[in-house]
Amino acid sequence: MSGSIHLFNYFYGLIEQTTNTLIYRRPTMYNNPELIFEQSVPQGKISWRSPSNIALVKYWGKRDVQIPLNPSISFTLSKSYTETTVEYSAAEEDEPGVQFFLEGEINTSFGEKISAYFQSIGDIYPFLKQLKFTIRSSNTFPHSAGIASSASGMSALALCLCSIEQKHFGGLDSEADFFQKASYLARLGSGSACRSLYGGLVSWGKVNGREETSDLWGTQQIKDVHPDFLTFNDSILIVDAAQKKVSSRIGHGLMSSNPFSSARFEQAQKNIGRLMDVLKAGDMDAFINITESEALTLHAMMMTSNPYYLLMKPNTLNIIERIFDFRKNTGTPLCFTLDAGPNIHLLYPEKLNTEVNAFIDGELKPFLHQGRVIADRVGEGPEKRKQ
Ligand code: ADP
Repeated sequence: MSGSIHLFNYFYGLIEQTTNTLIYRRPTMYNNPELIFEQSVPQGKISWRSPSNIALVKYWGKRDVQIPLNPSISFTLSKSYTETTVEYSAAEEDEPGVQFFLEGEINTSFGEKISAYFQSIGDIYPFLKQLKFTIRSSNTFPHSAGIASSASGMSALALCLCSIEQKHFGGLDSEADFFQKASYLARLGSGSACRSLYGGLVSWGKVNGREETSDLWGTQQIKDVHPDFLTFNDSILIVDAAQKKVSSRIGHGLMSSNPFSSARFEQAQKNIGRLMDVLKAGDMDAFINITESEALTLHAMMMTSNPYYLLMKPNTLNIIERIFDFRKNTGTPLCFTLDAGPNIHLLYPEKLNTEVNAFIDGELKPFLHQGRVIADRVGEGPEKRKQ
């Protein structure tokens, strides 16, 4: 299918006004009944490595089928990634459709989520019903702890599915078509996963005045960005590697009754517009101000939901206070952000590596879980692996 037919088929958000009722149609973009094996069902194996990402302007709140209530933008990471290998062959009765192994061990709960995901995209990829899958995956960082394993995991999986389509049905010829579809599919698995498909900085969600942006997939935003931001370091400070008690799925849902939600969605729209200008100008002070305010606002949304909850830990706050003090006392332009979890992402220009690492070792290590730091940086995006 060509890109224009995709757009023609796109009915998302089409609202029919019947007497007093609004009916939202399910997205039908990319639905394609022809993607079915007519003759023999093939077997094969495909692997992708896909990175996690860390949002600067946060996505928190969604509607319909994984459509964000405000736009977001993230740095794609480099060392925090998932590597996934999908082996597929003809489905057999009485055998599970998906067997999922995480770090070499069978993981039925992840496997069940992937089966449900495959079912949910059955109109896009009808051939999924004809196959059984053995999926082996590993993450380079703790999962379910607010470092976005859902983003790297679902983007790696979506890339494998697009490669299966490309190999057996053709199409997706241009790189742009391939990654756009992978981003669309990743979004249906986990919203912010759609930002992991490209390197550098990636937005997701319609930004006022930015035609290239979309609610349906991520858009790379590296044109006109000051080069300092494309080589930024992110030292991920592991305060707690345990699984968080409230999942992001529940957190997003609670935004529908949060009394501050509409102000938050407006604020995010303003912040992303400002941040895009700041990234272009290379204005570090404004970058720090927007990034830290976004992190604290995200957690404020959790605290002002009902039921209310906290994902920050005492050591999260201990570290934040030391970051404030260090910046004030030394003038070093570093800042923090948080994902939906207790762990701190310490962001700073690459050229400050030595002094920031001395600060981490000297002042922050005692607050970390087993002194653990993932020395990450802005990355280039996913990579197909050789078999
Ligand atoms: P995180 O902060 O790590 O994204 P979430 O609770 O939001 O935490 O997401 C964790 C979920 O992401 C897991 O329950 C699982 O469904 C999915 N996930 C994590 N790692 C992988 C992976 N390697 N492959 C597929 N899915 C994964």
